Amino acid sequence: MQILKDKILKEGKASNGGVLKVDSFINHQIDPMLMKSIASTFLKKFSSKEITKIVTIEASGIAPAVLLGYLLEVPVVFVKKAKPKTMENMLVSSVYSFTKDTTYPIFISKEYIKPEDKVLFIDDFLANGNAALSVLGLLEQTKAKVIGMGFVIEKSFQNGGKLLREKGIDVVSLARVKELADNKIIFETEEN
Ligand code: 5GP
Repeated sequence: MQILKDKILKEGKASNGGVLKVDSFINHQIDPMLMKSIASTFLKKFSSKEITKIVTIEASGIAPAVLLGYLLEVPVVFVKKAKPKTMENMLVSSVYSFTKDTTYPIFISKEYIKPEDKVLFIDDFLANGNAALSVLGLLEQTKAKVIGMGFVIEKSFQNGGKLLREKGIDVVSLARVKELADNKIIFETEEN
């Protein structure tokens, strides 16, 4: 997705340890116009699939997920990183965070994902795939069908994309970064 790649080149910062900072349009300040284009692109890429629910994980996946949910006219469920006292029928898994170097629990209520649901998972980044695989584990417990996973940015020099694709999951990434070095950001020529 060219406008996304242009924005990453203009405002993204490659920091040490293979982390791409995109705080000015995804992770802190949000660019709603870009998010709308991101959602429209996901809509086209998954147009052949029936989708009844979008699932994302808080916090940065929520913006693209909600805009896509709006376009598809389906509800969006965000996996929580803290257990609310009021939440019932809760399923739990745990995720190792690459950016924070810690493990944290994640939660989803069975109330909002039913076995007959056809789920599209959306997130901001795909790195080692820990978050996505953990959410997949939660969704397996709900018995819903995962029809695909969409990421705004995939870092293809990490293993997540390979792991998910090997599981037969339809993975769509709108910008694939193959190298982050000396403040240089280099993309794969193919998007998926
Ligand atoms: P994974 O679980 O695939 O290793 O990492 C996915 C999660 O870690 C994403 O939801 C995102 O929050 C965070 N993340 C991983 N790599 C990066 C990165 O390079 N930059 C930013 N901003 N977040 C990242």
